[in-house]
Amino acid sequence: MSGHGTEGRRLRPRTLQVRGGLTRSNHCETSEALFLTSGYVYGSAEEAEQSFDGTLDRMVYSRFKNPTVAIFEDRLAAVEGAEACRATASGMAAVHAALMCQVKAGDRVVAPKALFGSCTWIIADLMPRFGIEAVLVDGTDLGAWEAALAKPTAVVFLETPSNPTLEIIDLAAVAALAHRAGARLVVDNVFATPMLQRPLALGADVVVYSATKHIDGQGRCLGGAVLGTKAFCQDVLGPYLRHTGPALSPFNAWVLLKGLETLDLRVERACANALAVARFLEGRPEVGTVLYPGLASHPQHALAARQMSGYGSILAFTMTGGRRAAYDLLNRLEVIDISNNLGDAKSLICHPWTTTHQRLAAEDKLAQGIGEGLLRLSVGLEDALDLIEDLELALNAPRPHAGEGA
Ligand SMILES: *Cc1c(COP(=O)(O)O)cnc(C)c1O
Repeated sequence: MSGHGTEGRRLRPRTLQVRGGLTRSNHCETSEALFLTSGYVYGSAEEAEQSFDGTLDRMVYSRFKNPTVAIFEDRLAAVEGAEACRATASGMAAVHAALMCQVKAGDRVVAPKALFGSCTWIIADLMPRFGIEAVLVDGTDLGAWEAALAKPTAVVFLETPSNPTLEIIDLAAVAALAHRAGARLVVDNVFATPMLQRPLALGADVVVYSATKHIDGQGRCLGGAVLGTKAFCQDVLGPYLRHTGPALSPFNAWVLLKGLETLDLRVERACANALAVARFLEGRPEVGTVLYPGLASHPQHALAARQMSGYGSILAFTMTGGRRAAYDLLNRLEVIDISNNLGDAKSLICHPWTTTHQRLAAEDKLAQGIGEGLLRLSVGLEDALDLIEDLELALNAPRPHAGEGA
């Protein structure tokens, strides 16, 4: 077992991301043990009975609990400053379970229009099938939140910064409005990571992650997590996960544990790189708006500075030449890859209009600030000068139709 003398001491997040939740087996291994097992055996029929009636607190089945997954859950909870955490197979499994475990027919859910596409689908398409009313607002407009939350509401769900247009939502203000309406506030904290923003400290009730993004951060596996109070995780979320089964694989939990150990170093480097790239892009005539919360030109820079301790690794920018110019830029990049993933060690760029947000109607994309010239760039851990040079060479290249042939 871990412990060895640190009880009663308040370890800091950088220490907790390396050591939180550590439980060693009787082999006293340095690294976390990988328990790749679905089931567990009992020494007697009585022990099996007591394991099921709750008299004995032990592993029963890996859909409920697994030792490697439990280390990941305990470590992430420690880093986040949450009472409890439950891991899931993907970020969407986390969002789905965090929302569906607490609603019933007749309930009302409020969320911003600017959300990760699959989150919008759960709220605006799936929930209404079961008689849950979905209300979508402009997330940056506190008056719109206030109006929407004038009626009793079960859940408020939001992400900030938002994908892909980097809108910032005032967490403390929305939390107060949500609570007045009787709602729990669930925050998708993927873009900020636990290193840059603590929604629970600002009044949120539940935090969800796609661990696929910065927590793994090296493009290897899917995973997700839901964090909140012990009561919420055990009594509300627990039965939902136990009986619907979106369990995280122990192998993926082990990979994610290794990711957590270096999270702050990676996030710090990626943030510095993102700011350097954003500043470079701001100075280019081919580029219109650059959306990065760390730029003074971002419409909510002051709010971001207040509720975040860093501005993240993702930025978006518009090519003034529209879709053609955006495609030309993507096709000329040699270091930065075209990919819809984000939060990776490798810098990845995508064209939301035709990829991540392809299925939305044109007017809905435009309402979210997604134009045909918009590109989303997830800045990685490479040397910032190489990323800037890659963008510079691609922007400087002659137009393809101007006499390029033989
Ligand atoms: C990627 C992402 C998700 C979904 O996570 P998966 O691990 O891909 O299922 C949810 N929310 C946000 C903001 C994301 O970026």
